[in-house]
Amino acid sequence: LDCLFLPTGTVLFSEGDPGDHAYLIQSGAIDILVEREGQEIVLARRGTGEIIGEMALLDHGTRSATARVSAPTEVIAITKRQLDQRISETDPVLRMCLGVVIERYRETLKMVRPDAVAPPPTTVRSLPGPAFDAAVAVLALEREIERGLLRAEFELFLQPIVALRDRRLAGFEALIRWNHPVRGLLAPAAFIPVAESSGLVVQITDRMLREAVSAVRVLLAARGAGEGCADEPLFVSVNVSGHDLVQPGFADGVMQILAEAALPPHHLKLEVTESMLMKDPARAGSILDTCRRHGMGIAVDDFGTGYSSLSHLSTLPITTLKIDRCFVQAMLGDPTSRKIVNTIRLLARELAIPIVAEGIEREAEAAALDAIGCEYGQGYLFGRPMPVTEAIVFLRA
Ligand code: C2E
Ligand code: CA
Ligand code: CA
Repeated sequence: LDCLFLPTGTVLFSEGDPGDHAYLIQSGAIDILVEREGQEIVLARRGTGEIIGEMALLDHGTRSATARVSAPTEVIAITKRQLDQRISETDPVLRMCLGVVIERYRETLKMVRPDAVAPPPTTVRSLPGPAFDAAVAVLALEREIERGLLRAEFELFLQPIVALRDRRLAGFEALIRWNHPVRGLLAPAAFIPVAESSGLVVQITDRMLREAVSAVRVLLAARGAGEGCADEPLFVSVNVSGHDLVQPGFADGVMQILAEAALPPHHLKLEVTESMLMKDPARAGSILDTCRRHGMGIAVDDFGTGYSSLSHLSTLPITTLKIDRCFVQAMLGDPTSRKIVNTIRLLARELAIPIVAEGIEREAEAAALDAIGCEYGQGYLFGRPMPVTEAIVFLRA
């Protein structure tokens, strides 16, 4: 993480400057001061565990005070982007209250007079608390993800999806892995949540789409053009987040990636989770409609866990339903799970949408799902997520 070491006397920012960063104080002390009629008034001394410079970042105004280091200090910089994303996702009423509080504080600062008796500067807090540690960890991870993107540390893994009837390969799901320089190969659970909350997931999706599209080209070439494995052309299915769908021009961007690689859109599926679709079904629907019209497939991921309304489902341009792993894993021992899978299958058949059952680990599960009439399966039984080089070998086997 970018720690700045600041010697005593450093001016971190001055009254009137535009605000581009806020700072978390890891150790040391920083004076907040204003100048009135040529006189310097120290308003506060901030210490370990405190944040400074957040106001200008929150309301995009200029600095209403100067920050000057009063003892050797270590700070962590927070960028405008890191806050903007979070603010834009905050409840609008809270956002308004925040704006009002900042404005009032700014007015109060303007009224400070040279003869004002400022409170004696003290270091307010001496020990960082758990909230500070958690914030630092999230901010650090965000910076690392940004750096990881620049250094191309993220890698595409592919997990096979097979036709349950004859076990022929139908396609692959693209799953991200992070070749972290210190922590080794990381699974998405270690970083996707923070990538989501910071909005960095948009860059991750872009990277994955590009890599997935170029991987399909390599796989198609390795297999011999045109030759069908299952009933449909070989595809790769890429996980897309809610942040991607609200990006203006998302569909055009994907088309551009496909065009640059000269890959027909029917080799690409977009996987969206059921819960994500239900946040704003109308908006998601219209963007997915565009993608579908261009020829891409649309898979609903983790189906059965997100309480989607059936009326919405029937209006969305869905080409695949993916039954969540939890039902598959419970199916053999639990009649209710088996009934749920059966009901999903009936629904899908009614809507003429093929099903992929996720997380198949045992032969008995594959057999039961095939007997129920699930078309496709994905799971360790058929193959784990693997690097593209291994997927080529898998494809030829
Ligand atoms: P998901 O989309 O539901 O992906 C399926 C997950 O189940 C993968 O975990 C896969 O490795 C795992 N899995 C597959 N077969 C089996 C099995 O037989 N048994 C068990 N126990 N697990 C199995 P993974 O790769 O750790 O990914 C976790 C989640 O992270 C994914 O869940 C997806 O929501 C997210 N994710 C992965 N890659 C990306 C990405 O490129 N972009 C975004 N936005 N999210 C991603
Ligand atoms: Ca998925
Ligand atoms: Ca899933």
